[in-house]
Amino acid sequence: MAPTTSPLIHRRGLMLVLSSPSGAGKTTIARGLLDRDPGITMSVSVTTRAMRPGEAEGLDYYFIDQRRFDRMAETGELLEHARVFGNCYGTPRAAVENALAGGRDVLFAIDWQGAQQLAQNARDDLVSVFVLPPTATELERRLRDRGQDSEEVIANRMAKASNEISHWPEYDYVIVNHDVEESIVAVQAILSAERLRRRRQVGLPEFVKSIQDAL
Ligand code: 5GP
Repeated sequence: MAPTTSPLIHRRGLMLVLSSPSGAGKTTIARGLLDRDPGITMSVSVTTRAMRPGEAEGLDYYFIDQRRFDRMAETGELLEHARVFGNCYGTPRAAVENALAGGRDVLFAIDWQGAQQLAQNARDDLVSVFVLPPTATELERRLRDRGQDSEEVIANRMAKASNEISHWPEYDYVIVNHDVEESIVAVQAILSAERLRRRRQVGLPEFVKSIQDAL
């Protein structure tokens, strides 16, 4: 990629949040972005829900019990946390804060409640993207095609999709996920532009002055 900044300029990492109703494709988009962009790392959440087939501890989630979760929430170890579909989910604070301080960007696939909490606590570092399904029928098809959940779980997630979708106006960007490849490219474009925001570029005044002094 062409250099778009200078070694004299550094920046604090940003938090890129992807939210969507379950099945709209945010996990697939997140994986695609992680594969293509070495500058961003995934925030791995803790959850009290059971592990699904194909999931791995520490990769998809840290699977913990309710007692441990409550303790983490009480002691401030979670940057945000929420109850979703009857289970608890939360973002471990330390990994995120270390990454941001080191200038690395962090990707979150979390729900609207989590996005709201991050917006309250760290608005300047936050870039939020809402992913919509192209149609309701397509959303249901994708939930079924995962083949990981029972009929009851699928029906529950469809019922909750409307509530999740109602939060779209709270996000900075909205993507309709017709095609995963196009959506990944769109998120890459958002990330590239947000990295160049003036306020994120520390050392810019000094850099500009060094040019002016030499003119
Ligand atoms: P799933 O059980 O399908 O992996 O996730 C269910 C929902 O919980 C999804 O909308 C997902 O984005 C959300 N979620 C996953 N991790 C977190 C988290 O750490 N915090 C919050 N607030 N939501 C999360």
